[in-house]
Amino acid sequence: MSRLLEAGVAPDEVDTLILSHLHSDHMIDYARLIHAAWDMSGKRIRVLGPAPIAEINERLFGSAGALAFDWAARTDYEPSQEVWRGRGGSVPRP
Ligand SMILES: [Zn+2]
Repeated sequence: MSRLLEAGVAPDEVDTLILSHLHSDHMIDYARLIHAAWDMSGKRIRVLGPAPIAEINERLFGSAGALAFDWAARTDYEPSQEVWRGRGGSVPRP
């Protein structure tokens, strides 16, 4: 993620992410990238990776995942919705 930003690429410019394997040094910023792309513009990044990636996604982004409270705050709370509208988005957020 740091290298991506240093290269001047915004997270929501990424269309596809390929994870060759799931070592932490290759994916420690995975949630950060997915979250940043979504929060910037609602962008969903296509992710290809070894089979456990589906379980990892659920544990990170699922309704009981690590980021569930953050998703709820950003989609359900009026101040967050105002920020989203300010960026040109509409409610409900995707
Ligand atoms: Zn490795």
